[in-house]
Amino acid sequence: MAPQYKFMLDDSQIPRQWYNIAADLQNPPSPPMHPGTGQPIGPDDLAPLFPMAIIGQEVSPERWIDIPEPVQDAYATYRATPLYRAHRLEQALGTPAHIYYKYEGASPVGSHKANTAIAQAFYNREEGVKRIATETGAGQWGSALAWACQMFGIELKVYMVKVSFEQKPYRKAMMNVFGAEVIASPSDTTEAGRNILASDPDTTGSLGIAISEAVEDAASRDDTRYSLGSVLNHVLMHQTVIGQEAMLQMEMAGEEPDVVIGCVGGGSNYAGLAFPFMRARLAEGAGTRFVATEPTSCPTLTQGTYAYDFGDVAGMTPLVKMATLGHTFVPPAIHAGGLRYHGMAPLISQLHSEGHIEAVAHPQRAVFDGAVQFARAEGIIPAPESSHAVRSAIDEALQAKDAGEERVILFNLSGHGLLDLGAYEQYFAGELEDHEYPVEQIAEALKLVPEVAAP
Ligand SMILES: *Cc1c(COP(=O)(O)O)cnc(C)c1O
Repeated sequence: MAPQYKFMLDDSQIPRQWYNIAADLQNPPSPPMHPGTGQPIGPDDLAPLFPMAIIGQEVSPERWIDIPEPVQDAYATYRATPLYRAHRLEQALGTPAHIYYKYEGASPVGSHKANTAIAQAFYNREEGVKRIATETGAGQWGSALAWACQMFGIELKVYMVKVSFEQKPYRKAMMNVFGAEVIASPSDTTEAGRNILASDPDTTGSLGIAISEAVEDAASRDDTRYSLGSVLNHVLMHQTVIGQEAMLQMEMAGEEPDVVIGCVGGGSNYAGLAFPFMRARLAEGAGTRFVATEPTSCPTLTQGTYAYDFGDVAGMTPLVKMATLGHTFVPPAIHAGGLRYHGMAPLISQLHSEGHIEAVAHPQRAVFDGAVQFARAEGIIPAPESSHAVRSAIDEALQAKDAGEERVILFNLSGHGLLDLGAYEQYFAGELEDHEYPVEQIAEALKLVPEVAAP
């Protein structure tokens, strides 16, 4: 019998609810704090930035939250996404491990980010918001939100990290196609941007800087709200459609994962795949391992500190307890732009600090070695971000080979790399740098993490 490569769900099996892991945590989450008063923030503090429905989800204790019908309809244009068994990669590696991957690159914008973009655009439209300001790293979030805003009739302004604006011109074009306005960050159109440019005119930009600009834009206009593509609880929750589908698909395959892997920038694609599986570990002590992978040049979980810090460079966002390299840290300009963030989702950070999630860091060239090996076996070219998960999946499969063990590996292929071919070109030309772990910059940035008393 031919091996089964692909596991598909029919439309009736698409999730109708999001899973909120806050309901199953073993310790209560640490509340976000007001940057001015140092006290826990309330809904009113967030109202200038987010629609009330989103604020409600951010703090909700409910385990299951219904997905509104218009959001389900939009999901139905590309969900469920396929789950693949990587038979050809297994053969290439000569491993007894079984490797499965959930392919979020199958969305129209090429990544998982559409899952929350659609939900956020919907709730903004419901509350009469006319315009959204946001930031984007490599451009995946900007393109996903541009498409979603187009669907729900909202104007969008995107502050795009300067290095990506220059490295990835097609992502900018894609946002323009969907009707968004895109500007390189730091820009001279915001005070936060002008301050950075004054002190460092040649900066490559960073997500932390772009967030300051987008938040300032949204806070200064009544018709505008802000939207974040990762990190926050509601974003992670919207992504749980990935893991819920994957659970059903693994059932179809007749297997359960021994290890669940994903790359982490702010933590959303990994949370999306992992949290529905994590539930059994939290509730019943299931032995499934969870591995989060990140770049050595931005090693938030492996080298950061777990403390209250700002989400942005200018210190305008609430303080949240998370793994952080310091809000002033500007990571080296690696190609996995979506992983260049100084912080990490509080939920992922907490589960890591409690020992439920392991973290691994990979240097850029080893990541591309794995990506090319994967692409040659499977026919899908992974995004540089997703390639960190590919690297870890290959490493797990090779360890299983050494141990003669039939390990079942599941990872999230969060996006395709068809708009990142410039990075592959550099890799083949031998021009890709392995940045040293930026010890001194991180030490400096960690000194500026604020002292916040526990509530
Ligand atoms: C944005 C992005 C990431 C990183 O963000 P997370 O919130 O950690 O998921 C990873 N992969 C792809 C394809 C992305 O677009």
